[in-house]
Amino acid sequence: MPAFMEPFRIKAVEPIPFPSAAEREAALIEAGYNIFQIPARLITIDMLTDSGTSAMSAAQWSALFSGDESYAGARSFERFEAVVRELTGYPEVIPVHQGRAAERIVLHQLLRAGDVSVSNTHFDSTRASVEAAGAFALDLPVEYDDTTSFGGDIDIDRLERLLAGDTGAPVRCVVLTVTNNANGGQPVSIGNAHAVRRLCDEHGIPFLLDASRFAENAYLVSTRSPDVAGRTPREIAREIFGFADGCWASLKKDGIGNIGGLIALRDAALAKRCRAKVIETEGFPTYGGLAGRDLDALAQGLLEVTEVDYLRYRAESARWFADALAQAGLPVLRPTGCHAVYVDAGQLLPHIPPQRLPATALVNELYRVGAVRTTELGTLVFGRPGADGSPGTSAPRELVRFAMPRRVYTVSHLQYVAEIAERVVAKAADLRGYRIVDQDDVMRQFTATLQPVE
Ligand SMILES: *Cc1c(COP(=O)(O)O)cnc(C)c1O
Repeated sequence: MPAFMEPFRIKAVEPIPFPSAAEREAALIEAGYNIFQIPARLITIDMLTDSGTSAMSAAQWSALFSGDESYAGARSFERFEAVVRELTGYPEVIPVHQGRAAERIVLHQLLRAGDVSVSNTHFDSTRASVEAAGAFALDLPVEYDDTTSFGGDIDIDRLERLLAGDTGAPVRCVVLTVTNNANGGQPVSIGNAHAVRRLCDEHGIPFLLDASRFAENAYLVSTRSPDVAGRTPREIAREIFGFADGCWASLKKDGIGNIGGLIALRDAALAKRCRAKVIETEGFPTYGGLAGRDLDALAQGLLEVTEVDYLRYRAESARWFADALAQAGLPVLRPTGCHAVYVDAGQLLPHIPPQRLPATALVNELYRVGAVRTTELGTLVFGRPGADGSPGTSAPRELVRFAMPRRVYTVSHLQYVAEIAERVVAKAADLRGYRIVDQDDVMRQFTATLQPVE
């Protein structure tokens, strides 16, 4: 039995589908063995992503009803603005429809062709925005293993050398992604954010946070730093916001919303330029592509997400689930963060070479056996396509991510996934790899068609 329980009871329920073995097999064939192409009505437990998949609280649903749909200056905006100001300390608050709109608008104010953006790891949509500006996205993550507390940190020594050196690299911004989603969802420490502040001050460079998981980061800091005893996650989050010049965030994560994003800044002149872009592409700057009711629900979500009971449950359920998967025989990556559990398919399936997509083989078998949907983070996602349909370069690791939607699944759902995992592990030696039949050049994992290898 887990040593925690869900700190909520259930008020509205949604039935989940239980497709038969024949339906699952047919779905895989119909989808070209690509899990993104399987419709949600044929998924029992959906761990594809934690983005936009949260369950809202009763207070959020009632906030929806008090939404003010005025085009300009709605009460809903004032509520949202007040909550974001109190949380971040940044005076300039601009809502947008989702995270990638926020990062595109801010980054395109800071970057010109040939410039460099440096990060602990740019999330893939962030990298796309940097590259769309003609700039270069440089990742400087720290190396980490299962004993590292803050595997999300940026490598300060390398950052310092880069900024001090005469490489001529015109670094125009430093971005800390908290938590570091693309690098295992590991947290960033207070000391690391502080050190980035110092370096950015020395070199006159703006420091921004990609704060999509600011609350999970703050909670992990509270459990892994001996020096923050007695401080709440909200206080820790405020301290980290305090080091930066501003942030953007996808509110589909720690906004506990189904849609939304935000820009929050100190610099009024930069905010003015961003608002001009928001008017061009999102809408009037007090709604930014959202309905008034969305802003109300997000304001409430941003209050709930830093509650200690909620965050403890979030972290403890991820840890419990990681233990359950490990017990089922899956090689689990540690330490566990909050938003997902990662397993190493390369280690489970050593007989399938990277070119035959072992992580995809595990993803598809989890679906075949139990209609569980996960994502591959291996060669299909990170390899670069080769000529004639070969998978091209291999990824450094063949990972599968089990993402955890917020407040959606209970322990018994997680237990079910662990049981399915155990049945997959039992026949691991019989699993076969895949070859790519058809692929696009960009983000091929969404659209590729695959075939099992005989
Ligand atoms: C999800 C995410 C984004 C992009 O946000 P969307 O709302 O999906 O557009 C950016 N950065 C990080 C770290 C994310 O997790």
